[in-house]
Amino acid sequence: MAKSKKQFAVIGLGRFGGSVCKELYEMGHEVLAIDKDEDRVSEYVAYSTHAMQVDTTDENAMKQIGIGNFEHVVVAIGDNIQASILTTLVLKEMNVPTVWVKAQNNYHHKVLEKIGADLVVHPESDMGRRIAHNLASEKVIDFIDLSDEYSIVELRATGKVDQKTLVDLNVRAKYGVTILAMKRGEEMNISPMPDDLIHQGDMLVVMGHKLDINRFENEGL
Ligand code: ATP
Repeated sequence: MAKSKKQFAVIGLGRFGGSVCKELYEMGHEVLAIDKDEDRVSEYVAYSTHAMQVDTTDENAMKQIGIGNFEHVVVAIGDNIQASILTTLVLKEMNVPTVWVKAQNNYHHKVLEKIGADLVVHPESDMGRRIAHNLASEKVIDFIDLSDEYSIVELRATGKVDQKTLVDLNVRAKYGVTILAMKRGEEMNISPMPDDLIHQGDMLVVMGHKLDINRFENEGL
């Protein structure tokens, strides 16, 4: 069961929208699943609180289902860029506070931002970049881009830093990065102390400029 139950609507039940819908529902949230295709809607009856067949570019239909009352809506309409843009526009005009939209390309992305999408995601290219980072460095577990220049990266501690403290590493002075948290097995230490010992295999959550993190990863770990 989710810690705090939220209400979501997911529009477009392709592979991406479908997995967002299923995951939110399995986490215990209320999820309204929407698609214009009847078969897709039937498929998601079992993986959502309600599943509805609606053409989401139709403003009246959207008003009728009360989409304006949802706090979070995910627009996962893929190939039909026009439908994705119109749907986002309808949602923002109805003052839905959080609208996350899957973009197909950079032009689509720019338009979505201009019309007020709160977050624009590119699942295929984002996942491709993640996999590339993981393949290129066995130390990188995962990362989040904060901007073009700054990231938060999860790095695996190697034997080089085994039994060293954060003071020994002195990463802020040497590399200009900050260790936000350390994880050992299932145990998460979210405010590591200067004399906390690092063990080989620990996960370090590091924030900083990408170039600095890269230097720390290559020289310090
Ligand atoms: P994925 O890779 O995630 O499967 P995709 O790019 O293949 O994405 P599509 O199949 O193009 O995704 O679109 C996702 C869903 O969006 C489809 O099930 C489609 O029926 C639905 N959809 C498209 N237009 C609308 C619309 N106007 N209203 C509601 N649903 C729509």
